[in-house]
Amino acid sequence: MKKFIVVEDSPIVIKIIKHIAKLDSSLRFDTATSFKEAKTLLENEGGKQYLAAVVDLNLPDAPNGEVVDYTLDLKIPTIVLTGSYDEHKRDQMLEKPIVDYVVKESRFSYEYVLKLIHRLHKNQHIKVLVADDSATSRKFITTMLQPHLYQVIEAEDGKQALNIIEKDPNIKLLITDYNMPVMNGFDLVKNIRREVDKNSLVIIGLSTQGSGGLSAKFIKNGANDFLSKPFSHEEFHCRIIHNIETMEHVETIQHAAYHDYLTGLFNRRHFYEKGEEALAVAQKKSIPTCLALIDIDHFKKINDVYGHDAGDLALKEIAALINQAFGRFVFARMGGEEFCVLLPGLDIKKAATLLENFRELVEDHIIMLDNSSVTITISAGIAADQNNTLDGLMSESDRQLYNAKQAGRNQICVAE
Ligand code: GH3
Ligand code: MG
Ligand code: MG
Repeated sequence: MKKFIVVEDSPIVIKIIKHIAKLDSSLRFDTATSFKEAKTLLENEGGKQYLAAVVDLNLPDAPNGEVVDYTLDLKIPTIVLTGSYDEHKRDQMLEKPIVDYVVKESRFSYEYVLKLIHRLHKNQHIKVLVADDSATSRKFITTMLQPHLYQVIEAEDGKQALNIIEKDPNIKLLITDYNMPVMNGFDLVKNIRREVDKNSLVIIGLSTQGSGGLSAKFIKNGANDFLSKPFSHEEFHCRIIHNIETMEHVETIQHAAYHDYLTGLFNRRHFYEKGEEALAVAQKKSIPTCLALIDIDHFKKINDVYGHDAGDLALKEIAALINQAFGRFVFARMGGEEFCVLLPGLDIKKAATLLENFRELVEDHIIMLDNSSVTITISAGIAADQNNTLDGLMSESDRQLYNAKQAGRNQICVAE
């Protein structure tokens, strides 16, 4: 949950924020209508209970933004609200390590504030590497990143940066200078891009103005973006947020492409891609491999008797059981009420035992519905790899599944 504090004397502003935040159950906030009240709330736990503070520049008992310095001293990420746009004041504020400066214009201003809060929450899990040989330069960038809650790591040259990235796949953003000893920024980017693509690690190159085509070269070598020195606080954060959001959108799309929406399980596409790979590896090493096709028995009846929502719930529960039972294998919801598991390392006997255990697990599992409960059973067909293809294994296990259904369901049939 994301809890923040709003220090604001205008009841209308508080009302609007309340209204917008109500639509989002992951957000909670406390309000203080004066500097004094804010101090009382913040003194409590030193502000540690808050992810961020949204503060008005102009309060009756703090007319000149005194509260901003107070929350910054407590190291709380601070978003400043102001009634009117004042260029001088804005520049003054942006010199401080605040998160952003927002003019109270319309509901969009407050939606933007809440978006920033979500951003801060996510940033806590984002590791950023700053590669620059100048300690002053590194400190300058680190100081800009920290109020946004990123986890910042530093490297003094390209080689060190490369080592850190190779060891830590959780680094999602690299900000790199060009001129560095041992390995320069271009070589660093080129080396990284042999292994990690633009959608898994954002690279932003730093170039000095008047340095010819440095910025374009950064992009051509594989950087996502560049910043020309000197850059403003706002420019820096706009670029970073824009690039990180793009990466997150691609992640969302990739996740959707390989997962089933209802159950969250992997889908058919994942199964074919990973299954082909795993089968090839197993065949190369002569490891026995089986494939099992699992289908819920008389599932149509669940929908007919209890309704489609109950059917969905049952599917989700079976998916969760599959996830538990076959987590270390390649498995997927192939469609409808049919699931598939590839079992490298298991011969047909072991595979049959594993599936028999799973059949019993499902049979004993009670699915709680609104006003009743229901149990279901599954049937499965298993085929063993005799240098068969994935499609071949699939057809054979489908034949065995058909046999299991014909023989009365709630049982496993194995290809002899
Ligand atoms: P059998 O034992 O022969 O497999 O019978 P069955 O009723 O399970 O098989 P059939 O193929 O006749 O019916 C499958 C049913 O699964 C029909 C379809 O409406 C239902 N179904 C498929 N996908 C979903 C889903 O996502 N949600 C719900 N609620 N039902 C689904
Ligand atoms: Mg079925
Ligand atoms: Mg079916």
